[in-house]
Amino acid sequence: MLYADAGRRVTVLWRPLPAWLNVVLGLGTFAGLLWLERQRPLRRWTENPRRRNLRNLALAALSAIAIQLTERPVTQRLTAVVESRRLGVVKWLGLSPWFEVAAAVVLLDYTLFVWHVLTHKVPFLWRVHEVHHADRDLSASTALRFHFAEMVLSVPWRAAQVVCVGAGPLALSAWQIATLVAILFHHSNVALPIALERRLCRVLMTPRLHGIHHSVVEDETDSNWSTIFSWPDYLHRTIRLDVPQHAIQIGAPTVHGDAVRTLPELIARPFVAAARRAGVSTRGHAPGARNLVA
Ligand SMILES: [Zn+2]
Repeated sequence: MLYADAGRRVTVLWRPLPAWLNVVLGLGTFAGLLWLERQRPLRRWTENPRRRNLRNLALAALSAIAIQLTERPVTQRLTAVVESRRLGVVKWLGLSPWFEVAAAVVLLDYTLFVWHVLTHKVPFLWRVHEVHHADRDLSASTALRFHFAEMVLSVPWRAAQVVCVGAGPLALSAWQIATLVAILFHHSNVALPIALERRLCRVLMTPRLHGIHHSVVEDETDSNWSTIFSWPDYLHRTIRLDVPQHAIQIGAPTVHGDAVRTLPELIARPFVAAARRAGVSTRGHAPGARNLVA
């Protein structure tokens, strides 16, 4: 009996979720959010959404190639090693397979929170992450707009996440799909009913919360770093609810206006100019009600 259970556990955890599920959920979520962004925009657009979306998707395509060439071969091998040698925190906890996957997703989400803070605070990492923040509008396509150099630089961190957390093939693929849906959602320019978002943001990262992270005001950028679940921001007291969306200017604190706009400018940015502060570091008192999403 023990042998049969162990065998079932191995077959379940060894198999990643099918790639088509990633594609169907990713495209379905993206298409649904594009439609909602037209029906219920949260912030006013500064640029033609169609042109912007195409530019963001072009950069996303380059990043997808970089991920396939660099991250995927590494994580494919490492998740197999983690599974066969039972390495990492969740393997040592001795949980049932489904709890093990859930715990791995939560820990991968938390360690991505740490990586996100590092991409802002370590100067050479900010040079690549800045391209994501230089978008003057924030929408579902911003979620995919990452410089390919950021994808390559994140490979050692991803490898460490897999090994330390103990993420096998199933756990890593579940986290990747959940992360894709979550980033599309919280970058989207969709006005959720305010009462719903005030409840939702206690558990998940939401569009209004992440809008504050994409403000040009530096101390607002230094908040709301979470990806799927919002508890890491509550834990580290970096949650910020009090800036109303109409008061936010979307952009990077280190980019002047439209200085980084065309696709060649986006690709070249990390290699040509050291990021310097261009915006304000604080606006003093937030214009909104304290501790309430608005
Ligand atoms: Zn960021």
